[in-house]
Amino acid sequence: MALIVQKYGGTSVGNPDRIKNVARRVAKFREQGHQVVVVLSAMSGETNRLIALAKEMQAQPDPRELDVVISTGEQVTIGLLAMALKDIGVDAVSYTGPQVKILTDSAFTKARIVSIDEENIHSDLDNGKVVVVAGFQGMDEDGNITTLGRGGSDTTGVAIAAALRADECQIYTDVDGVYTTDPRVVPEARRLKSITFEEMLEMASLGSKVLQIRSVEFAGKYKVKLRVLSSFMDEPGEGTLITFEDDDKMEQAVISGIAFNRDEAKITLLGVPDKPGIAYQILGPVADANIDVDMIIQNVGEVGTTDFSFTVHRNEFARTMDILKNQIVPHIGAREVVGDNKAAKVSVVGVGMRSHVGIASKMFRTLAEEGINIQMISTSEIKISVVIDEKYLELAVRVLHKVFDLDQENA
Ligand code: ASP
Ligand code: MG
Repeated sequence: MALIVQKYGGTSVGNPDRIKNVARRVAKFREQGHQVVVVLSAMSGETNRLIALAKEMQAQPDPRELDVVISTGEQVTIGLLAMALKDIGVDAVSYTGPQVKILTDSAFTKARIVSIDEENIHSDLDNGKVVVVAGFQGMDEDGNITTLGRGGSDTTGVAIAAALRADECQIYTDVDGVYTTDPRVVPEARRLKSITFEEMLEMASLGSKVLQIRSVEFAGKYKVKLRVLSSFMDEPGEGTLITFEDDDKMEQAVISGIAFNRDEAKITLLGVPDKPGIAYQILGPVADANIDVDMIIQNVGEVGTTDFSFTVHRNEFARTMDILKNQIVPHIGAREVVGDNKAAKVSVVGVGMRSHVGIASKMFRTLAEEGINIQMISTSEIKISVVIDEKYLELAVRVLHKVFDLDQENA
């Protein structure tokens, strides 16, 4: 007998039939003698609908009240699933986040989980019940309802698995696992049998949307065994297991995946005085405006000036350019500011990079052979990212996928 936490995303509970499917899957696990806790999202589209309603009341909805509204989607699906389970003879009980006592901080719309009271869940499980918990929500010390940020049900699932010391946390979604890259761009992309937490973290932060980043961080920190599976296949197979590097003997490819992000914008300040404090003077006001900066490059100075480039999300491009032109350039005396909001980022990710040399040069040669100009480069121990012109994005992903042997089954 194992204790399994299963999290189902919005498309998996998108209509009554799908909720009944989830009930049947849960029933199967119960028949095998396992204890099951289910964590649910709202029906797909529901959270967006609730946000839109809130915006009809207030252009910038009050964050506390917004959480009161957007946490309701999950309350509907958990009640419905508990009914569907009872209807097929499986005893079940549903709880909202506050009912469980998922305690969070008070950062409305992006709260962090502080603690989970697991006692009631354990006693329900011991009484033979399936426990169905609303994802995405909790409450703060003062009893206010909070939510965990978009996609936050993943984090609820992992956090509950950690609190209960579950044997496995299964994330059921509309894909059957984590892929070497987006199959819509590279049809030869294949499902990974396993991927390490660190790689998954890089893939998630680089735009692979399978899991909320915070849930991966959480799973890594509390050593939760995580598996991504399809909720649409009768036999979902083994999906992708997210492992720790040391136990990952299954797949030893040097590169595990190619991640990419279309929504980049690149900004360069030309002729910046090369002296202490300049980076701070440029990026301080950008940070004050709450704009996330990704890659940063400063060149070696020549005759007292240098060039300074960085990337931001494309949605922040206009605002960032404004800040630079109006506040920063006149202040520090740069020669010119130029921007390009048609940039894209492509990254190769793999823990194998730690023990293999020549990955970067292979990546750069491959791009060169296709005539793709690299505009910026950044690296970490297990990742190399380049910024390129958006129009070459698909081509770059395809050729890199091929050259790093991800096209074939090489497990
Ligand atoms: N329903 C919430 C959202 O759409 C949480 C989740 O589905 O994970 O972001
Ligand atoms: Mg999701």
